[in-house]
Amino acid sequence: MFFDLTWAYLTKVHSQNVVHVEVFFDPQTHTERGVAFDVVINGIKKALEKGKEELNISYKLIMSYLRHLSEEEAFKTLEEALPFKDWIDGVGLDSSEVGNPPSKFINVFEASAKHGFKLVAHAGEEGPVEYIWEALDHLKIDRIDHGNRCLDDDTLVQKLIEDNIALTLCPLSNLELKVIQKMEDHNIVEILDRGIMATINSDDPAYFGGYMNENYYETAKVFNLSKDQLLQLAINGFEASWLSPEEKDKHILNVKNYFSALN
Ligand SMILES: [Zn+2]
Repeated sequence: MFFDLTWAYLTKVHSQNVVHVEVFFDPQTHTERGVAFDVVINGIKKALEKGKEELNISYKLIMSYLRHLSEEEAFKTLEEALPFKDWIDGVGLDSSEVGNPPSKFINVFEASAKHGFKLVAHAGEEGPVEYIWEALDHLKIDRIDHGNRCLDDDTLVQKLIEDNIALTLCPLSNLELKVIQKMEDHNIVEILDRGIMATINSDDPAYFGGYMNENYYETAKVFNLSKDQLLQLAINGFEASWLSPEEKDKHILNVKNYFSALN
């Protein structure tokens, strides 16, 4: 099943010209109902490898801890993940944000970093801007998932710009989950215009209203995005990725060539 789900996702994004994915999985959702960790990760990994071979889609894999559960349970998940350490690039934090601040997971993030995992966390999506600070200062994350609330704090905006910290924004998911009431309310253009490294992403695409191209398309349509803004978003997507500098350069050059070929 995990293979099939992942493979269906990859063939779909391939049809949308996606060339690199950084996918999240939540092992606890499955281990809690008795599905073994290795079953989950083996299926996902097999599909990702097939996608790399047959569809030429490179990938990174991110394991998220469920924040409504305890830190102790996150530690258990980390233990279960260690035999598969080489398959996992980073760890994240997701599920219901409000009332489950990043600071609840300081120790398990510190331990994850010691094992060499990169760190991300959902912050400031439904929760307040303080959660973004906590994720940066206490969890030491490299990239913020969502981060919609960052504009509430000018000092934070400055920090994001200076430290080149990217936000993985998911406009259609925000609409579906009622983080915003309508697309026009999204602050992606302001975030981008302030000089923050905004990126467009899908978020549980099968459930939350669209894959990569639908997210680009709806955002572009509602805000009448210029070619320059779209180019910047596409470049940011690669800049913010965990690809090597050489791979980033290669993809960014392709994007630039594509844009300059448009009349
Ligand atoms: Zn999310």
